[in-house]
Amino acid sequence: MGHDSLPARTLPAAGRRLQDDDKGYDMVASRSARERKAAVEGGPLARVKIDVDEAKQFVYKISCAECTAKAHRKWSTYRTGGDNGYLLAMDRWIFHLVEKHPGAEAPCLAYLGAAQQRLHERREQQGS
Ligand SMILES: [Zn+2]
Repeated sequence: MGHDSLPARTLPAAGRRLQDDDKGYDMVASRSARERKAAVEGGPLARVKIDVDEAKQFVYKISCAECTAKAHRKWSTYRTGGDNGYLLAMDRWIFHLVEKHPGAEAPCLAYLGAAQQRLHERREQQGS
């Protein structure tokens, strides 16, 4: 009788099962955390997807919601790798926003200067 009024607390606390002794689970938890972080930084137009390839590397995919909606001009980028891949994909996204959607707002635009600096360094390394 009185038991019916107890709050439903049947679910164990989320995350407790993701122990770091299991690399597979650890990778998934980390992947989804990165995906959320990238989606927030990319802003409302970014559609972020992070996959894990056969070499257990992250594959970052960012596509543009607005350009995808106008189907004739799809835009997306993908980069493989850990933090480096994240930066490269996000840099390309920042440049896309600046060039094609000048009015758009996104937290990642705060890194525009850093992104331009990295682009400059990459071009210098290529000796062009
Ligand atoms: Zn776009």
